[in-house]
Amino acid sequence: MTQRWAILVFALMMAAVPFIPGMPPFWIVLLDNIGLAALVAMGLVILTGVGGLTSFGQAAFCGFGGYVTAILTTSYGLSPWLTLPLSLMASGFAAVVLGLMTVRLSGHYLPLGTIAWGLSLFYLFSKLEFLGRNDGISGIPPLSFGSVQLIGPGKIYFIIWLAVVIAALLTVNLLDSRTGRAIRALRRGHIAAEAFGVQTARAKLLVFIYAAVLAGLSGWLYAHFQRAVNPTPFGLTASIEYLFIAVVGGAGYVWGAILGAGIVVVLKEILQSYLPYFFKGQAQLETIIFGLLLVGLLHVAPGGLWPRLAALLPAKAKNRNPQAASPLAPREKAIGNGPLLQVDNARKQFGGVIAVNDVSFIVQRQEIVALIGPNGAGKSTTFNLITGILSPSAGTFSLSGQNINGTPPQKIARLGVARTFQHVKLVPDMSVLENVVIGAHLRGHSGAIASMLRLDRADEAKLLAEAAKQIERVGLGEQMHQLAGSLSLGQQRIVEIARALCIDPILLLLDEPAAGLRHMEKQKLAILLRQLRDEGMSVLLVEHDMGFVMDLAERIVVLDFGTKIAEGTPAAIRANPDVIKAYLGAAS
Ligand code: ADP
Ligand code: MG
Repeated sequence: MTQRWAILVFALMMAAVPFIPGMPPFWIVLLDNIGLAALVAMGLVILTGVGGLTSFGQAAFCGFGGYVTAILTTSYGLSPWLTLPLSLMASGFAAVVLGLMTVRLSGHYLPLGTIAWGLSLFYLFSKLEFLGRNDGISGIPPLSFGSVQLIGPGKIYFIIWLAVVIAALLTVNLLDSRTGRAIRALRRGHIAAEAFGVQTARAKLLVFIYAAVLAGLSGWLYAHFQRAVNPTPFGLTASIEYLFIAVVGGAGYVWGAILGAGIVVVLKEILQSYLPYFFKGQAQLETIIFGLLLVGLLHVAPGGLWPRLAALLPAKAKNRNPQAASPLAPREKAIGNGPLLQVDNARKQFGGVIAVNDVSFIVQRQEIVALIGPNGAGKSTTFNLITGILSPSAGTFSLSGQNINGTPPQKIARLGVARTFQHVKLVPDMSVLENVVIGAHLRGHSGAIASMLRLDRADEAKLLAEAAKQIERVGLGEQMHQLAGSLSLGQQRIVEIARALCIDPILLLLDEPAAGLRHMEKQKLAILLRQLRDEGMSVLLVEHDMGFVMDLAERIVVLDFGTKIAEGTPAAIRANPDVIKAYLGAAS
């Protein structure tokens, strides 16, 4: 709520600026340029700052927006307003094509890929005859309302800043939604998000398109502002500048895009106007000083300037706990006989290492089974095989009699298998509530467009209420609005359990859930797990605390060097000579 009010107040302020008496017209030109740059940077906020995908090619998408309207209005006489959707579609379509090629790249290859197509598109713009080569296209008509033509910087100003305000609202809405959380989770790797049903490749492509459409909008506005286009503002240098803007302002913050655009545009202008007085004739000097100043800024505020500034603003309203909402429909509990999970001769080889060596076991309905064994025995690998993160070298896995070999993690989550990770996989700069609600991803339905338009509220309220319920259930109600990264490691493991419960699982896989917990906390966890079992869930857990395991599990499977060496009741396992040998020297 506060964010949206702030945007509206900001919009009113910006609307009043041109009416300030004595406002130099040149300042309005600067504000126009700031608005145009802020639009592109806002796309980068989501793409790079939030989604973690660095693009050195955003200016090329401005080019699509600019050139499409340039050609259609000058050669075909279309009205500029008609070309707006076409310009946005062209940028979006280009993003689909380039995105499909690029988002699959990982690590450094992704930014390199964006540089490659940023460069090629620049050459394309400057070589094609019908785009006017290096001279570009001029004589583009101005935007107009009836007979009123928006000629001059003072008039198009309102359209540019209206676009910025709308983009800011849509972006804020998108980030504060089911889709937004999926995007925010991307930066921490795919595994956890996919384990809760997020289609990560689709989420990446979506932010790619979103950022490109905002850049296309900026290009369209630019074309009707300058009334001419040429390749220069759509080249690599411009793309790098947009990235600078997002980073200096604070990649990840909508306001950072506007602040960064203000700083960079004004700084460039000052340097270009005043440096020549000091260093006569040294034309390139401003580029060097500009670069040095930006590097200096990043040293002072590595996270960007917006978070620094925001810390000085009055404190935000306190987070409220989610409102009660009608509960989500529960999963149809798998009834029937036969085992819930059946692992048959599972094998996983990593090069020469046989991490899991022909292991078979069963988890019955409403049963708590423990998987134990020394470090490196293959327990976590077994979990990764069951949940589809790794594909087995051999063996079969079935859930309620259905073969799940080769099923992707998202689909396995949909079938009702939820898990926690030995190495906690939460998004540390999201609150506990936001992290946990990712677990309910598959139980919501709202897509990106509905979220941007805020039509997702009823759906969202149900998801948040479910997450809050599970957080209370695991006993972390007090910590609901704290950042997940600020909790102790033991508590973070419990947060992961709450997130897993949001799937409404039939099978819960817990990888060392009690590590880092105090005695009392372990007891509470055991009570919770028994309750869940009694309500119909099965639990498979890996745990090193033998007291905890012996007390809780109904059956125990023991692995050593990838091989199952024993299986049975706690009493039988405790007395098994092979197990004693494997654990010799280990604390029990
Ligand atoms: P545990 O969870 O029982 O401690 P893991 O399943 O993590 O054991 O590991 C079993 C063995 O497989 C270890 O020797 C480990 O080094 C190896 N291993 C696990 N994951 C990989 C991987 N992705 N690539 C190569 N080796 C792996
Ligand atoms: Mg492990």
